[in-house]
Amino acid sequence: MIDRRKFLKDSLIASVGAVSVISSPKLFSGQDEKSDSAQNLKENPSLPIVISTWKHGIPANEAAWKTIINNGRALDAVEKGVRVPESDPKVQSVGYGGLPDRDGYVTLDACIMDEKGNCGSVACIQHIKHPISVARLVMEKTPHVMLVGSGALKFALDNGFKKENLLTKETKAKWEKWLKDSKYKPDIKTEGHDTIGMLAIDNQGNISGACTTSGLAWKYHGRVGDSPIIGDGMFVDNEVGGAAATGKGEAVMKIAGSFLIVELMRIGKKPQQACELAIERIVKKQSDYKDFQVGFIALDKKGNYGAFSLQKGFQYALYRDDKNQLLDSNYYVRDEK
Ligand code: ASP
Repeated sequence: MIDRRKFLKDSLIASVGAVSVISSPKLFSGQDEKSDSAQNLKENPSLPIVISTWKHGIPANEAAWKTIINNGRALDAVEKGVRVPESDPKVQSVGYGGLPDRDGYVTLDACIMDEKGNCGSVACIQHIKHPISVARLVMEKTPHVMLVGSGALKFALDNGFKKENLLTKETKAKWEKWLKDSKYKPDIKTEGHDTIGMLAIDNQGNISGACTTSGLAWKYHGRVGDSPIIGDGMFVDNEVGGAAATGKGEAVMKIAGSFLIVELMRIGKKPQQACELAIERIVKKQSDYKDFQVGFIALDKKGNYGAFSLQKGFQYALYRDDKNQLLDSNYYVRDEK
């Protein structure tokens, strides 16, 4: 078991928001010993494993797992996995049916990374239902890592992707309502606005990750968040493990969130500790941290996992030992009693 006192002491030494944690009765940090992550401490956690953000991670994990159990590559698994919410119009935060920006355009961001450190991404791409597959093609067919906007769209169309209208009747209606009632600013707390980030380790012990989103609802046209940025929305290193982020992209970008977590694991932190330290870094550096949500998931190469968020409500889906489960993440900001 992780010694909770030792962890808090480590946090103090790292001085990541520890003072405010201790001086404020509203805040709580550290792993709850009864949390699901306690099982991380098994000596030899079983592999393979798939972990992803939010409840739409459940069907996404299901698709990824099919590839994994057939001895497929983690890279194929994560791509297939996140394509599920990308094509589901009920998931209004990813792909087709994603909420538009403030001008009514659905613009999508995605990135993918494999066990060799190859990576690809697209940002602010319109009209393409599966940006994750375009990101993979950028990785495999170009000398680049990232294509954006009209260039990304042209690349997708040149490579056989179909141009589609991604704004559904439902999301158009929500946007029109927002135009009437809302203040003209991006909204992080919009219901159902949740990126999918996924990490998987296959039967060969290799890790890959994917991340895809429609970004913040009602964002400025052209705004790009953390999700397509390698090291912010997602990062994997086959020597160490991987991490993925969801929530307010700007907050994640300011601390290079996923890269930070992988580097913390590299120096010996467990995935759970690394996620908590990344959240505490946000708390220390960003004084408005109570006003937005950020959540992280992480996986090390042995199959230990972790998750932590700023606010209550972050959930993640974990597939291992033939079981696909939706779990509640522990979180930082505690309500005042
Ligand atoms: N991280 C995404 C972004 O900032 C949004 C989300 O996860 O809800 O674009």
